[in-house]
This record gives sequence, structure tokens and C-alpha cells, in this order.
Amino acid sequence: MPHRIVIVGGGYVGLYTALRLQKGLRQGEAEVTVVNPENFMAYRPLLPEVASGTLEPRHAVVPLRAVLRGTHFICGALTGIDSERRVATVQLEAGPPRELEYDQLVLGLGATSKLLPVPGLAERGIGFNSLAEAAHLRDHVLGQLEIAAATTDPELRRCALTFVFVGGGYTGVEAIAELQDMALDVLEGYPELDRTEMRWILVEAMDRILGTVSEDLADLAATELTARGIDIRTGTLLESAENGVLQLSDGTKLASDTLVWVAGTRPQSIVGRLGLPVDERGRLVVDDTLRVHGRSDVWSAGDCAAVPDPEQGGTCPPTAQHAVRQAQQLGDNLLLTVRGQAVKPFRYNSRGEFVTLGKNKAVGEVLGRKVNGTLAWTLRRAYYATQIPTWNRTVRVLGDWAVGMPFGHDVVDFGSREQPRGAFQEAADR
Ligand SMILES: Cc1cc2nc3c(=O)[nH]c(=O)nc-3n(C[C@H](O)[C@H](O)[C@H](O)COP(=O)(O)OP(=O)(O)OC[C@H]3O[C@@H](n4cnc5c(N)ncnc54)[C@H](O)[C@@H]3O)c2cc1C
Repeated sequence: MPHRIVIVGGGYVGLYTALRLQKGLRQGEAEVTVVNPENFMAYRPLLPEVASGTLEPRHAVVPLRAVLRGTHFICGALTGIDSERRVATVQLEAGPPRELEYDQLVLGLGATSKLLPVPGLAERGIGFNSLAEAAHLRDHVLGQLEIAAATTDPELRRCALTFVFVGGGYTGVEAIAELQDMALDVLEGYPELDRTEMRWILVEAMDRILGTVSEDLADLAATELTARGIDIRTGTLLESAENGVLQLSDGTKLASDTLVWVAGTRPQSIVGRLGLPVDERGRLVVDDTLRVHGRSDVWSAGDCAAVPDPEQGGTCPPTAQHAVRQAQQLGDNLLLTVRGQAVKPFRYNSRGEFVTLGKNKAVGEVLGRKVNGTLAWTLRRAYYATQIPTWNRTVRVLGDWAVGMPFGHDVVDFGSREQPRGAFQEAADR
């Protein structure tokens, strides 16, 4: 009987593990099933450009059914596992839950926003982890510009033009940089507004932004952002977000309708309910072959796992480049397991990283060399255009970038799509 391999999560880990198996499995060796709540994989490093409208949301994703050939796909979410019976329970979009029997189970569940107990944060904040959040933020910022341009109330105008991001890691820096770049670019279409009225504030608890990149690159990024008018508050905390006012630990009070919380992530909550070993950060404990500690039939990698870092010691950082390499090794180890051979450890040396800061601006490190400005921006784009799976997506991404060069950012606020039944409901209520 073929091995039954169930892969839960269709992100970097899930997709690249499945692709490795798809390529390596011989006829009849195994049946592979991928489970994901959406029928696409969000290509997360491109989310800042979705937020700025540089990329169409549909172009920054990989359609799972199009790339998973010969692999079953189920649109649903894992709700539990029965380790004795080797069964994973999946909640479908509709109907009763479905039980999937497995011989080998892969958990690539990723991460979600990590909230801190800040009064008002849960009600007022928005994260920046998903395609929906990125697309929403773009519409939200454009919506705030419309509010500011239309109102005659100076307080409302000031509130609408104040954008606060909490968390100065690369996600927060990329998000604020891309969105502010878009806002500056579209401002010429708003003769009622002046760029000096906009306030973009980046709040970071540590004494510098971009804590995971080298200090001189972080300084370059900070200099660029400050020159563009972004107010960086290091060594500062958000203390509360109640009654429309954001209170910072340096005493500043900001009336604002935009609070983006990018101050860290944690594994999906389901991870802690699976009865598997987790570390103090809630990540699954795996060995260097990516097997969950003490289990011969459960594997994990990526943001939901504490993977030993072969390069620096400790555990691997939560990056896409690590998740892809881990998934490739995980796929190879599943092939070896199916064939009764010894599995191999994960080995990887990071080749560099980039932080986008808006059009023609980025900082990065490639093979130990620091790059910035247009060169870093071009290298970053070339890297992602060639890495995103399928030519179909490469062409669409390149197309969006090419169109954006002469025409700049689009100013259309499509926020109304978030209430598609509004007009129909109103008609029905008459
Ligand atoms: C805005 C942003 C920018 C980033 N930029 C970079 C960058 O420039 N460079 C870089 O290297 N890294 C970057 N990262 C980090 C990188 O995207 C992650 O490290 C990577 O996505 C981790 O892969 P993963 O497979 O572990 O998780 P993900 O890619 O998040 O995939 C997890 C999948 O599991 C699914 N899932 C969740 N719960 C369930 C459930 N109960 N059942 C089934 N499926 C479930 C999710 O829907 C998702 O599809 C960025 C991240 C963000 C948010």
C-alpha cells in the first residue's frame, strides 16, 4: 500500500515539501495530501508591495491547485490530531469535519501576530501577516486620505493623516516604508492635502530598528526613512490604544485611526493543542532532521518550528529562505523514509537578505556584501521574480512592476469590496 503523507499548511514549508515529493516520488510509492485554509500560498515577502499597490494581490500568490499536480488538495484547517490512530482532523469550509489517516504528517502551520496586553490593542490594531491584511491596509490608507481631504474638521483631518506602526523589525519597516512611499506618490491627486500634514510614526521598543540585520545597514535604512519624514521612536512602547488615542511610553499622545501592530509573531494557536512538544515560544521542538522530538511520524519546519540553526547555533530565524531550504530537506527525508533509508540533517548557510524601502530604495546584504539604494532594490526584485513558483506568476509580477515604472501608484480605494452585500442589503431593507 502506498504511504499516506499529509502536509498541513500550504505556505513555504507545505508547498516546497510537496513540490520536492512530487518531483522525487516514484509511481505508487506514496499518496500526498496538502491541507490549507485557502487555495493559494501567499508569497509573504511580496506583501509590502501588495500593501502599496505595486503588486496586484492575485499576482503575489501561488495557486496551489495549479502547481500541485498528482497531489491531493483539501481546502480546510487542521483542528486536531489523534497520534494513536494517526488521524488528522480537518475543518472544511462547509459540512462536517473530515478525518485524514496518515503514515507521515508534516506540520507547516506558520505564524500569526503576537499581541501584548496593551489596553485597546486587540480592538484597534491590525496585523501585517496575510494577503487580506496587506490589501486592506492599502485601501485603509487611501480611505484616510479621502477622509482628510473631504472633512472640514481639523481634528478629524489630523487623526486621519496620522499613521502609527508598532514594531521596527523588517516587516514593520517594509510595511511603513512602502505605504508611506505610496501615500507620498498619490498625494498630487489630493490638492487639499499637504505632505507635511501627514505623520508616519514607527515605534520600536529596542534601541534601534531592524535588530536582525547589521547595524550599519539598519542605520542606512533609518537615515533613508527619517529623510522621507518617517518619525522613528526607538526605546519606546505603545502603552494603550483606547478612546481613539494612542499613548506612547515617551509621553506622546496620538489621535489616529491607523494602528499597525508588527511587533512580533508566534506560532498558530493550534500548535499548542496538538499534544506535541513545544519550546518556551510555543514552537514545535524538532531535531536537525526536522522530525518532531520523540516522534517518528511527525515532521515540522518554518515559522511554527524551533529548527536547530546549523550556521549560527540556536534556532533558525523565521524567514522564507530558511523555510524553503528546510522544506526541501524535509521532502528529501520523507523520500528516504518511504524507501526505508536513513534521513539526513538540515544544513544551510544564509546568502543574504533585503529590506525594501519603497520604489528604487532598499538595503541588503548579499554573500557578505552590503548593498543599498537602486542596486539593492533591483537585486531584490530580480531575486523574487525568479523565485516565485511558475512562469505564470513570474510574468505577472514582472508585468505589474513594469506598469508601475511609468505610471506610479494607483489611487483607487477598493475598500467597498469588504462589504460586498451592503448595497443589496440596503435595497432589501427598504
Ligand atoms: C509581511 C512579511 C514580509 C516578509 N518578508 C520576508 C522577506 O523579505 N524575506 C524572508 O526571507 N522572509 C520574509 N518573511 C517571512 C516569511 O514569509 C516566513 O518566514 C515564511 O512564510 C514561513 O513559512 P511557513 O511555511 O512556516 O509559514 P507560512 O508561509 O506562513 O505558511 C503557513 C500556512 O499554514 C496555513 N495554516 C495556518 N493554520 C492552519 C491550519 N489550522 N490548518 C491548515 N493550514 C493552516 C496558513 O494559511 C499558511 O498558508 C516575511 C513575512 C511577512 C509576514
